[in-house]
Amino acid sequence: ELSAKSAAQNADTNNPTIFDKIISKEIPSTIVYEDDKVLAFRDINPQAPVHVLVIPKFRDGLTQLSKAEERHSEILGQLLYVARIVAEKEGISKNGYRVVVNDGVDGCQSVYHLHLHVLGGRQLKWPPG
Ligand code: ADP
Repeated sequence: ELSAKSAAQNADTNNPTIFDKIISKEIPSTIVYEDDKVLAFRDINPQAPVHVLVIPKFRDGLTQLSKAEERHSEILGQLLYVARIVAEKEGISKNGYRVVVNDGVDGCQSVYHLHLHVLGGRQLKWPPG
């Protein structure tokens, strides 16, 4: 928790991120869904039995949700829809799951390429920490 906070505080908000190398497949990942605009892959540090990240292939200024503009509304909808498809594929739709977007320092965002966390496979707690 502490390290997530310091990672968030030290994150560079404009440079390319590690997700570019995941998209280009320079860095391996376990892909669970891919189309021309969206990629979904397993989180390397899973916080639940199912923990998948859903990201736009083209960041286009969408470093974080709070930077979203009108032109991003279509991809934002597509990301949420892919989260639903991923949940179905991962078998967590019956019992339920959570979709999270961490924004900025208070949100503990560490990678500045917008991503949805899809979490499930166990009873999740509320409120989050
Ligand atoms: P936090 O690090 O606090 O979860 P974010 O919401 O920015 O903040 O999430 C970034 C996520 O990216 C983390 O859950 C992290 O485990 C994941 N991640 C970082 N590098 C990789 C990688 N190479 N492959 C898969 N997931 C990664």
